[in-house]
Amino acid sequence: MRTANSIDIARWCARQGWPVHPLQPMRKLPMPGCSRCRSSHPEYVPHTVAECGCLSRGLWCHGFHAATRDSALIDRWWGRNPNMGVGISTGPAELLVVDLDCHADTPPSEPSEVLPAFSVPEDLLKAVRNGLDAFRILSQALDGEDFTDGERTLAVRTPSGGMHLYFRTPRQTTWRCSTGGNLKGVALGWQLDVRAHGGYIIAPGTQVAAGIYEAVGSCRQPARLPGWLAGALEQTGHLLAARPPAQTRSRVPNRARMATTSPATTSAWAAKVAATALSDVADCASISEGSGWNTKVNRAAYTLGGLVAAGFITNQAGAEAALLEAALYARPERAQQARSIIQSGLVAGQRQPLTPKDR
Ligand SMILES: [Zn+2]
Ligand SMILES: [Zn+2]
Repeated sequence: MRTANSIDIARWCARQGWPVHPLQPMRKLPMPGCSRCRSSHPEYVPHTVAECGCLSRGLWCHGFHAATRDSALIDRWWGRNPNMGVGISTGPAELLVVDLDCHADTPPSEPSEVLPAFSVPEDLLKAVRNGLDAFRILSQALDGEDFTDGERTLAVRTPSGGMHLYFRTPRQTTWRCSTGGNLKGVALGWQLDVRAHGGYIIAPGTQVAAGIYEAVGSCRQPARLPGWLAGALEQTGHLLAARPPAQTRSRVPNRARMATTSPATTSAWAAKVAATALSDVADCASISEGSGWNTKVNRAAYTLGGLVAAGFITNQAGAEAALLEAALYARPERAQQARSIIQSGLVAGQRQPLTPKDR
């Protein structure tokens, strides 16, 4: 994406289902609105976005609130102003981006202030120099994946040496941006900032004065928000609601089924059985009530337990993690219940080894 034009970046984002808005050339800030909509302007009349008619007239007033996936509008905005950068309105894009900062700040004098919401051994925290370190240590402490190599999710290196990790949010949830740079408000940790509902992120490929926001590794799609990270975000106050606001939902059309992470299996047959069971659980995300989530989680755990007993899955912890991820993708607020259903389902399933002749 190094040489991408803004219009190509904006079109690419829109194809992912992400609404985009223009940024000031070479800067991180949104383009200023029209004179009526700029508070610094002498003619400014105070008004809310809902009262403003500019967006419906194709203008880009009010920053990320103007973000669109409309191809005609995108062509008009960036076709006429190719120097403008591209921002992504993370909320309606159903994205949550973790911003791993790399500021020159000295780490907190108390190591426990790096990740104050989590219990992490102090010797690990002492080695933290920036947000990248803090995120890696958090993922280790919570048995999560290290996403910073750009092979498991879209990871974008920022000009200051930090990184943006992109995740798709579970369909039923709304997540808030971090509000406490100094950990006084909502924050995941020191130099760990979250952009979600009510915020925006600089799109991959965009150039600012300090350099380019450049995707690293080979993955160009956001991973589904993993269970361990969703739990950590919920614990630090980032879960705003279990349902997105109506206007947010209506702006994004249905997308393809979410891919699920499956545990390693020793046969193609077992891989397919496991993937189907996990998809059934994850697909409950698109059904708000009466989806039979409990039953599906239980059935999937029973199936995976049977595959473990038959030797098709050798890593039971991996099976358990995949089940939890799928279950929390659909119902992030039911972690405790998910764990208990998964435990009992796995135990029951292991009494009944599952082989191809049983299907
Ligand atoms: Zn305006
Ligand atoms: Zn306005």
